[in-house]
Amino acid sequence: MLKIAIMGAMPEEITPILEKLNNYKTIKYADNEYYEATYEGVEIVVAYSKIGKVFSTLTATTMIQHFGCDILLFSGVAGGINPSLKIGDLIVATKLAQHDLDITAFGHPMGFVPGGSVFVEADKNLIELSKKVAKELGKTVQEGVIATGDQFVHNEKVKDNIVKYFNADALEMEGASVAVVCNALNIPFFILRAISDTADTDASFSFDEFMQSSAIISAEFIMKMVQSIIGNNK
Ligand code: SAH
Repeated sequence: MLKIAIMGAMPEEITPILEKLNNYKTIKYADNEYYEATYEGVEIVVAYSKIGKVFSTLTATTMIQHFGCDILLFSGVAGGINPSLKIGDLIVATKLAQHDLDITAFGHPMGFVPGGSVFVEADKNLIELSKKVAKELGKTVQEGVIATGDQFVHNEKVKDNIVKYFNADALEMEGASVAVVCNALNIPFFILRAISDTADTDASFSFDEFMQSSAIISAEFIMKMVQSIIGNNK
């Protein structure tokens, strides 16, 4: 049976998803909680990782290696850096990079370490599917580059550098680490974010105001993706 992992970083990002599952079982594992449910004939495992690359790496790995998930969907919020992205807009990652991974002192490009690559590409079929879902819902979902790092960006200079090195459209703190895990373990993945702020000096205020509403926008779209995946799997 297909087993779908749905991940967020913060409780607010997965609560709207848990509310859609009638019944779920809570499993404590690796210092976190995982929620297991059967939904329309498929198994779903939901968790929020806690914030940042390390926790999200642990959760993604656990969902795949311990719970046996075959596919991973991430739902959450992000800072928009492409000026076309407004609060509440959805962005799906085509590829992701770690913007704070820096061994440039040795002549390597930003975001690169030997054995890795600057960018990890998300699953093309899931991106295609998201376009279909968006069309059905009459919604716009922008595709773009997501940059990930262990910092809440609220500064124009930091933002400009991330654009300079990665040509990123949005930034957050978990996507690229989840991408590295899924890529290494051959698990198709999809990273969706709704914009909560624009990573400028007002970002923390904007985040506090819009995080919850944007998290819901992302979660609702993810559940439509889940229904579509289930439909295709039948
Ligand atoms: N308010 C929270 C901290 C949020 S950190 C607390 O006090 O506990 C920001 C979270 O939202 C991360 O999970 C990250 O992935 C995402 N995010 C949204 N806007 C961001 C930004 N401007 N920079 C980095 N991450 C951002």
